Amino acid sequence: MSKRQISMVLDLNKCIGCNTCSIACKTLWTRDEGMEYMWWNTVNTLPGKGTPKNWEEMGGGFRDGKAKPGHIPSRDEFGEAWAFNYTEVFEGGKKGKGSHLQPAGKPEWGPNWDEDQGGGSYPNGYSFYMPRICNHCSNAACLEACPRNAIEKRSEDGIVTINEDRCRGYRFCMSACPYKKIYFNEQTKTAQKCIFCFPRIDQGVAPACARQCPGRLRFVGYRDDEEAPIWKLVEKWKVAIPLHPEYGTEPNVFYVPPLNPAAFDENGNIDESKPRIPDEYLISVFGPQVLDSLKILKAEMAKRKAGEPSELMDILIAYKWEDNFGGFDRDPQTIDWHMAGNEAHPIADDSNGRFAGSDEVSPVKIIDPRANA
Ligand code: SF4
Ligand code: SF4
Repeated sequence: MSKRQISMVLDLNKCIGCNTCSIACKTLWTRDEGMEYMWWNTVNTLPGKGTPKNWEEMGGGFRDGKAKPGHIPSRDEFGEAWAFNYTEVFEGGKKGKGSHLQPAGKPEWGPNWDEDQGGGSYPNGYSFYMPRICNHCSNAACLEACPRNAIEKRSEDGIVTINEDRCRGYRFCMSACPYKKIYFNEQTKTAQKCIFCFPRIDQGVAPACARQCPGRLRFVGYRDDEEAPIWKLVEKWKVAIPLHPEYGTEPNVFYVPPLNPAAFDENGNIDESKPRIPDEYLISVFGPQVLDSLKILKAEMAKRKAGEPSELMDILIAYKWEDNFGGFDRDPQTIDWHMAGNEAHPIADDSNGRFAGSDEVSPVKIIDPRANA
């Protein structure tokens, strides 16, 4: 049991599917050998098969309190990191004629293969973007399944990490994780996954995916910080809900669900009595709480449109990016990431128990110059 739990909320109504988050993560953490095909942050279109392909049907997690082993996703199901013919196109002397960029071989699936396909049919087609990272679950199936005790939940903030010195590559964690958010590195023979940018968190800096999101839709902070957006969105307003709560792992990543416009009738007129996205579909993704969340969101939107104040709308609008991060808003350029130290997480607390921030350089646990994003 962790003393505190760090968390993320994502407002799906603001995600534009740009994948800036995916690239921010990729350039920071998964550039080494064996990690080419890894995307610890993915953004897929729903409805869709996602990454890895059909992950929602692969099992794992807990049902009725019992662990359910699942499928271990294959490289093909994740999709390879394709090699492209850059040299031929850019340096082949054809000046853009006679050759075009294309992947080698004949790929049949990739990390965002079914982007923007969505569901429904004209004129009531629908889709929304679903960014995903490891959920740093309170009841982490991956941790329960590891026979080597290689998976740890940090006591100070609940971040779930894999100790690669202890990992022997058995992949029970990949079978157990129902979100299929663990990858296998064929070079090191170890399992690897999102670390919630903990070297940044230790220094009061929000994860790169959150900090670089142009939509300002990601909120970061401790779940019990009642002055910060996470607690307000999850506990107070109850509009941020987990993905597939029925998997039983108690995720700590939450989503503000997509507002559902009215459907068109057969004459092309708006029919306010019918939602465009079927309720059953939203319930299958977010559980039954989604309908109450949407009611609250719509009521607060109506208040704001009528010129009345709404704390909820003010939070979701995110006027100032710093307000999204519950105190984890330190400028990474004020930190000397090369300093050695390996002291345990030197976080200075303010009266709310948040990171207090400082221009002084503290000893850091992991030294990675690339953390300066
Ligand atoms: S960077 Fe933000 S807006 Fe772009 S895909 Fe990621 S979560 Fe969505
Ligand atoms: S999402 Fe999967 S990998 Fe992440 S903590 Fe939960 S069970 Fe483990």
